[in-house]
Amino acid sequence: MLLRSLFLVVIAFLASCSPKPYDKARKIQEEKVKEVITKIDMHQAPELFDTSGTALKTSFIPTVNFGSRKPDFVIIHHTAQDSIQQTIKTFTLEHTQASAHYIVGRNGEVVQMLSDDLRAWHAGASKWGNNYDMNSCSIGIELDNNGVEPFSESQINSLLILLQKLKTTYNIPNANFIGHGDVAPKRKVDPSILFPWKKLADAGFGLWYNVPNLMPPANFDIENALRRIGYDTRDLPAAIVAFKRHFVQLDLNPVMNDWDKCVLYNLYWKY
Ligand SMILES: [Zn+2]
Repeated sequence: MLLRSLFLVVIAFLASCSPKPYDKARKIQEEKVKEVITKIDMHQAPELFDTSGTALKTSFIPTVNFGSRKPDFVIIHHTAQDSIQQTIKTFTLEHTQASAHYIVGRNGEVVQMLSDDLRAWHAGASKWGNNYDMNSCSIGIELDNNGVEPFSESQINSLLILLQKLKTTYNIPNANFIGHGDVAPKRKVDPSILFPWKKLADAGFGLWYNVPNLMPPANFDIENALRRIGYDTRDLPAAIVAFKRHFVQLDLNPVMNDWDKCVLYNLYWKY
């Protein structure tokens, strides 16, 4: 009996000594949050110079009315990895320079990795409408999915619950729930063509077309319509593919057939 108690004490002692998983990442995040707070607390006047190089008179006087940032978009991704552990590891290593606010596992588990108040590095070079830095105005959600498999029901159910919380907390408009491929059409293909955007739109996250009953006019301008929705059309074929991945989900050819045009025309009126 004594031996057993001693054994349990030794096990408890060893457990208390071993580092908790992600202790190192937690410490690094705490340090970086301190850096952000220090920068905010600097109370420095701006340094401004006129064209002759003369410094303008400037000062810093603290206002008492402010808040933290309010995200206005949610950007959905797939991880293109095989397990949630793999993605968590990626986001806890500094050299990867990648992160997201949330990861949703295949089994529906939700892992938050960064406060909504801070800017995660999930969108990269991106554009939607006149927003040129989607990381600054969005929350990033990664779905644990290898990119070619269907998204599980548990995962989508958890996603819908998370989206509802974010939508309510930050008053995010329906149209502002979009995918990584939408905001970076030349570089990104996530979430894949298998992602259930219609199911999301039916629940109030993202827009969808009604069964088209309006035929586009003969002079319908595809590029203009895509731009009005938000797409970066500087590479038109890439924008067409991104649009079809999200809203048509039949093929990924960079060509607009009659049905694709009809869908676009009907969506066009919703934006
Ligand atoms: Zn992505």
